[in-house]
Amino acid sequence: MAEGDNLRRRLPQVQRLLELSGAAALVAKYGRTALVAALRGELEDARSYITAGRMTGAPSPEAILARAGDALRARSRPGLRQVINASGIVLHTNLGRAPLAAEAIAAIAEVAAGYANLEFDLASGTRGSRTAAIEPLLRELTGAEAALAINNGAAAILLALSALAGGGEVIVSRGELVEIGGGFRIPDVIRQGGARLVEVGSTNKTRLADYREAIGPETKVLLKVHQSNFCTIGFTAEVGIDELAGLAREHGLLVVADLGSGVLREVPGSAEPSVGAALAAGADLVTCSGDKLLGGPQAGLILGGLRAVEPLRRHPLLRAVRLDKLSLAALEATLRLHRDRPEAIPVLRMLGQTEAGLNARAERLRELVGAGMIESSEGFAGGGSLPEQRIASRALALQPAMSVDAAAATLRTGPSAVVARISDGRLLLDMLAVADDQLPALAEAARAVLA
Ligand SMILES: *Cc1c(COP(=O)(O)O)cnc(C)c1O
Repeated sequence: MAEGDNLRRRLPQVQRLLELSGAAALVAKYGRTALVAALRGELEDARSYITAGRMTGAPSPEAILARAGDALRARSRPGLRQVINASGIVLHTNLGRAPLAAEAIAAIAEVAAGYANLEFDLASGTRGSRTAAIEPLLRELTGAEAALAINNGAAAILLALSALAGGGEVIVSRGELVEIGGGFRIPDVIRQGGARLVEVGSTNKTRLADYREAIGPETKVLLKVHQSNFCTIGFTAEVGIDELAGLAREHGLLVVADLGSGVLREVPGSAEPSVGAALAAGADLVTCSGDKLLGGPQAGLILGGLRAVEPLRRHPLLRAVRLDKLSLAALEATLRLHRDRPEAIPVLRMLGQTEAGLNARAERLRELVGAGMIESSEGFAGGGSLPEQRIASRALALQPAMSVDAAAATLRTGPSAVVARISDGRLLLDMLAVADDQLPALAEAARAVLA
């Protein structure tokens, strides 16, 4: 006890700490008030450690100041910040999906910095529509008669079913009652939209006759959900949009297709259906995300015929799920690039990389790190897009000085927040979703976990 008193007495005064040579820089950067508060916090911690018998010597004044500096630095670091995605998954939902094109970022900056004609028609000086600028672009890119953009893909399905099937029945194949991610399940969305789910077929096979037999007086919508994050293989049968559309026309129903990914043009060699193809096949309404294969900001796109889209415009839910002006600016810029220069969209560029290019990036990283082995690896589009398609990539395999899990944690929590991939107990830095200008920071992070 007496020893504790002695230690506590030897802790320096705040004033003394402020006179240390390192203090001036911290005052200049964070302000005197913040530094004093941080120093008091450190001194308090030290006192309680001593009381608890967990500190056997008084810390030096320099050590206390250094800890206060660390605390101030941690406090000023944003909670949401950029990470380096070395996971090999391009549209990683937990890492924010699509990185935006320079044009989209510039559009956000311009609109964010001042006022904008968000809901104001400059020609007439009267109230305008929030999505007026992007609707012609969406129509041009997809061939749709009408278009709408809202907050995200899940909201698009909810709004569509609320407006088109509320109070009625929605028929869905049992093979398409999917959970998209984070517990978002199609049956729950149908219920939330005020509609009743009518399941037809089986997990692996659903035929047109199954839909036909389920149609009743309450039926409003035939819903087609793209499986996106899984595949059924083996003995399978599903009904295409074209056949569903034929059946729907016979009974005056609507076909709603939830595509998920937002492919504006057919991707060669990919099974992911494009919005235009779904509309051409006869879907009355197509919904998809803005930040998956479309490569834009978080958004939900709704495309279709006037008869299907108009009720959504008048639905009260629209206001609750509307798109904010920053995302709208980024979406418009991204759609312009789809029209004029798709190669400038980062997601499309990443998915189109050659193995030679990926290998060259891995070589550069290895030179910068001065260690590691380059290996062939398999990347993915992610975000529930192209689940069956592995993308040939390259990774730098590291031999860390600590366990692989500890090294991955060190990479994540380091200054560059690197998300690596662990495969078969090995630590890989996959090049698929890494940008060239991130290589120096990635190399520095990698060196910190090496022997
Ligand atoms: C991703 C996805 C959604 C949800 O879209 P968000 O933009 O993430 O809300 C809905 N349906 C399908 C088929 C999807 O793949």
